[in-house]
Amino acid sequence: PKEIVFIQCVGSRDTERPYCSGVCCMLSLKNGKLLKQEFPEANITICYIDMRTNEKGFEEYYQQAKNSDIRMIRGKVGEITEDPETKNVNIRVYSSLTDEIIKISADLVILSTAALPSKGTEQIAKVLNLDVDTNGFLTEAHFGLMPQETNTKGIFIAGFAQGPKNIAYSVSQARAAASKVAELTAPGKIDIELIIAEVYKELCISCKRCEKACPKNAIKVVHDEGAVVDEINCDGCGICVTCCPTQAIDIRYYRDYQLFTEIDGILG
Ligand code: SF4
Ligand code: SF4
Ligand code: SF4
Repeated sequence: PKEIVFIQCVGSRDTERPYCSGVCCMLSLKNGKLLKQEFPEANITICYIDMRTNEKGFEEYYQQAKNSDIRMIRGKVGEITEDPETKNVNIRVYSSLTDEIIKISADLVILSTAALPSKGTEQIAKVLNLDVDTNGFLTEAHFGLMPQETNTKGIFIAGFAQGPKNIAYSVSQARAAASKVAELTAPGKIDIELIIAEVYKELCISCKRCEKACPKNAIKVVHDEGAVVDEINCDGCGICVTCCPTQAIDIRYYRDYQLFTEIDGILG
């Protein structure tokens, strides 16, 4: 190939998929450099919106790529058509840095397409009772403080399953997740919470309010059975108790009559 063009952010960072795919800027820089070594006579162009090189050593790599004769055009590609005679790909791109429309007739075009959740993610989320975000990636319990934990006890996530990220970050997350598992299993036994929600079946009208409110996905309305509590996942927070319209839920050891008895005991 004589004229090679990389087009960045294809299908990412738009209204349908607003997220950055995280790895493709560096991949294009790396592949551009390798192609330049293999085909020194070829013109190599990268059309980008922003060059995201914010990890250790990445910015230096970007500068090296620029210095290795790779042309960078900052701007969105407006049109791609096939030349009926040469079968080359005609590209029109607006360069926001030089304020001009640049036309390139490329014989090789490489698209940096959006990173998507793997096909099985939805099914895994369903089986393990995990949350997914609006883009279909698995959701952590807390972005800053519990990045590997999920809302299901004992299930930890790492890497691309949680969202696009590079290998180094994925390895760090995988190690953190493995440490969390070791922490859980090292004592040889697992403690579970005894103070959990309990449902009075006869009062439950299957309205699903508790199911929607539970932050742990630990209570579900099951056909014919009403609300059923996942005894391992429930941490007894009591949120479901407050939203049940028929008072069909109590927290074990904190049932109303137990609280009133305790109050009577204190007052009496
Ligand atoms: S990493 Fe991918 S999605 Fe993010 S800015 Fe670079 S090309 Fe676009
Ligand atoms: S007590 Fe909290 S964790 Fe348990 S089922 Fe109710 S809302 Fe969910
Ligand atoms: S909120 Fe109460 S009535 Fe509604 S499904 Fe849950 S337990 Fe049943």
